[in-house]
Formats: sequence, structure tokens, C-alpha cells
Amino acid sequence: MVKFYEMVERLYELDVKLSKLEWVQYTTGYDFGIEEAHEEINNFLKDEKNYSLVLEYMEKASGPVEKRKGEILYNEFKSYHLTKELNDLNFEIQKKTNELSKILNTFRFKIDGKEVSGVDIDCILSREDDRELRKKAFFAKNQIDKPMVDNGFIDLINLRNEYAGMYGEKDFMEYRIKSDELSPNIFDTWEDDLKEHIIVLNEKGREYARKFIGSEELMPWDYSYIKSKISSSLNSHVDMSNYYNVLREFFLNFGFDINKFNITYDIFPRKNKSEWGYNFPIKYGEDSRILANVKNQYREYEVLLHETGHGIHSFMLNPEEIILNMGISGIIEEGIADLFEEFLYDKMFYEKFFTNSVEKEFEEIHEYDKISHLRFVGNIFFDHELYKNDLKSLDDIYNLYFKVYSKLYNDKPYNQKPPFGFRIHYTTHPIYMHNYFMGDVTCSMLKKVFYRKYGVDSISKKPKEFGNFLFEQVIKPSGLYKYEELFEKISGEKFSLKWYF
Ligand SMILES: [Zn+2]
Repeated sequence: MVKFYEMVERLYELDVKLSKLEWVQYTTGYDFGIEEAHEEINNFLKDEKNYSLVLEYMEKASGPVEKRKGEILYNEFKSYHLTKELNDLNFEIQKKTNELSKILNTFRFKIDGKEVSGVDIDCILSREDDRELRKKAFFAKNQIDKPMVDNGFIDLINLRNEYAGMYGEKDFMEYRIKSDELSPNIFDTWEDDLKEHIIVLNEKGREYARKFIGSEELMPWDYSYIKSKISSSLNSHVDMSNYYNVLREFFLNFGFDINKFNITYDIFPRKNKSEWGYNFPIKYGEDSRILANVKNQYREYEVLLHETGHGIHSFMLNPEEIILNMGISGIIEEGIADLFEEFLYDKMFYEKFFTNSVEKEFEEIHEYDKISHLRFVGNIFFDHELYKNDLKSLDDIYNLYFKVYSKLYNDKPYNQKPPFGFRIHYTTHPIYMHNYFMGDVTCSMLKKVFYRKYGVDSISKKPKEFGNFLFEQVIKPSGLYKYEELFEKISGEKFSLKWYF
């Protein structure tokens, strides 16, 4: 047994090392050996001696906790002990992914020949009154598509499908869903479940388009603008230099003191830094790091609340339970982060910045956010479809994009190329984006269950109790159960999209 736990610890150290290298690459663009770190992990997982320790542990495991630990580790190791071809292919996929992620992280868009950051584009999209300029900014984002495809994006998709096929699955999507411990048919009812809500979304969109831009339809380059029109306070200038104390005081309401955690923040844009927001839970209970790109606007606290939610989650876990922590579903992680993100519109958070005058607009925007967020499901379906179609060229991808969006939302294809490659997930986190939406569903469920149990209609009425509820009901058991099991355990019902509405 000692040998087994030592082995697990060594594996964890290798994961920690890789996360640190990735943090450097995402924050500075420097690669100090990511490929080698992957190789080290691969070799460790391939090692027969390590694998036999896992099998031995599984055999001796008694009781549900040990059995679950065995299952989690077995899932990590098993694909490395099938064939050599599978292992070689896996390494090739990692190499290609790393190569493409470097292109993505250091790429900068141009408008009229001038370099613009992702944050600048977001600013144009949300503030620019001239619809043509917004459109231009929106389509600037398709500039990365060709370099991605030229450098092997389609090859990467094919490699992943080849891997899944060799493994014995229909395609990479099925492979991924199963290895994430989800029911393979979990998405089958989504389109039907969402139909009536998408009708509402489209009607609401037309209503806002008429009201704010004098147009009959809302286009993708209008969404952020409409949001700012509904709630201009979201764009209010705030001094972000005090972000740490703002966040600390806010999270103290729930009984979480981030001073006691070692969370590193890197929140301002910089050359060669990834333009996204991330939490790197480097080492549970020891080291958690947050990457963001903010520019002193109130709405950007959304990402800081979300990522700090992840940071807190990683510090609330028992660091000794290395194996169980490996088994936590990404959906649960996103659900917890989303719970805190939503406080952007809650008085408990905004009162430091605004008076009560924003109450109405924040209520309206919160409602609009919830429904317009259904547009995100398009990205999820597109992500899935990439692996179900035979793609040969960039145009094939664009056609697929329009196909997905017209089927789901009744969108009409436009005559310019729809940007997709900028969304780093298609490259680095394939078949992952459903985690965000299912995280939202989970977040909604957790709130409803908490309200019911504590007889309140908002978390801010009993924040300390909520902190405790989150810890006891969600965080503590999060590694012990597969996602759908945990969902049912907390809510008493099976996972379904109905919890979102
Ligand atoms: Zn997240």
C-alpha cells in the first residue's frame, strides 16, 4: 500500500509540474518544456509497474470509497496499456495541441492594419454605436481561423477521431463523454428541451433589436451592445487596482477568507499573454493561480468572481485526497464558479460600486443574460459536430458552423466567415464546453435546493449558511461520485435542463 500511495504522489507531482509550465506559457508565451512534461507523464502512466499497483489496489479495494479511488485511477491508466499505436497517437495529439495553443496565445487581431487586443474588440462590441464598426470588430476574430487550419487544426481533429476509433469508440466525442463519466446519450434531448426557450430567445432578441438598434433582427455583433444598452452600468469605470480587497471582503460573507489561501492573480493584459480567463489549480491546498484580462470596467469583475470561485473550491478540498480530487467533474467545478459569477448582479457585491439605482437594470440584464446564454449551446453542438463530420477544408468548417446554427436557432448564414478558431477550447479543451452550460444548470439547481432547504429566495439572505451548504453538500463529496450521481444525490432528481429555467 505504501508503494501505491508513493506512486500516486509522484504522478501528482508530475501533473503539478506540467500545470506550472502551462501557467508560464499562458501568462508569458514562453515554453520551458511542456512537451517533455507531457512525455514524462505519459511514460509514468505507461509504466507496467505503476499500472500493476493500480490493478492490485483495485483488487483489494473494499468499501465504496476505495472502489471509487480504484476506478478513478484505472480510468487514468487504462488507455496507456492497450496498444503502442494508441500511446504514440496520444503523444502526437499532445504535441499538435501544444503547438496550436502557442499560436493562439500569442496571436493578435488587426483592425484596419492596426493590432487590437481581445479586450479592445470586446469594448468595441459592447460600446460602439456604429453597427458597421461592430461588425468589423466581430469579423476581425476570424483572422486566426486560417493560420489554425494551415497549422493543422483539421489534422488535430482527425488525430483525435483516429485515437477514439482505435480505442473502440465511434468518434472522439463519444470517447470523451465516456471518459468524463457522463451518459453517452445525455445530449440527445437537448434540442427538443430547448426548442420553446429558443423561440422566446429569438422573440426577445427581435424586441430588443427594434428598441435599441431599429432593426428587425439581432446579429452576433449586436449581443454585447444590446447588453450595454440594457445596462450601461456594466461598463462603468472602476479602479481595478483594489480588486483583491474587493474580492476578499465579498467572499468573507460566505466565511471564505482568501487571505488564508495562496491564490496568485495575473489580471491585466500583456503582450504574449493568453487573452482568456483561467484558474490553474496548480496544487490543491497549496497553490492556485488566476489569469484574467481586465481593463477597469465593472462587468469584468464577472471573470474575477468566477475564477476566484474556482480558487476557493481548490483550497476547500482536502489536499490529502489526491485520487478523489482527480475524480471531480469539470461540471461541478464550473457550477461552483458560476454561483459566484452571478453575484455581479447582486446587491451584496455591487453595493461597493453603485447605489440602489442599478437594481432594475441589473434585474433586467440578469434575466436577459440567462436567456441569451442559450446561444452558447451553439458552441457546444458545433464542438461535438466537428468530430462527427468529415472535414477537409476551412470552408467545410464554416459550412458546418452555419448548419449547426441554422438548425438550432434558425440563423441565416451570412456572407462573411464566422469566427470560431479564436475560441481556444476547440483546440485545447475539446468536448469541454458543455461543462460550462451544465455548470450553469448545476448552479441553478444548487440555488433552488438551498432556497428550499433554508426557506429563502436569495443566497444573500443567508450567505454563511450557503458557504457551509456548498462545502458540505457539494465540495466535500465532489470526488466521490460521478457527475450525474452527485447531481441526483443533491437534488433528488435526475439531471435535466429543466433545472436551468
Ligand atoms: Zn470556469
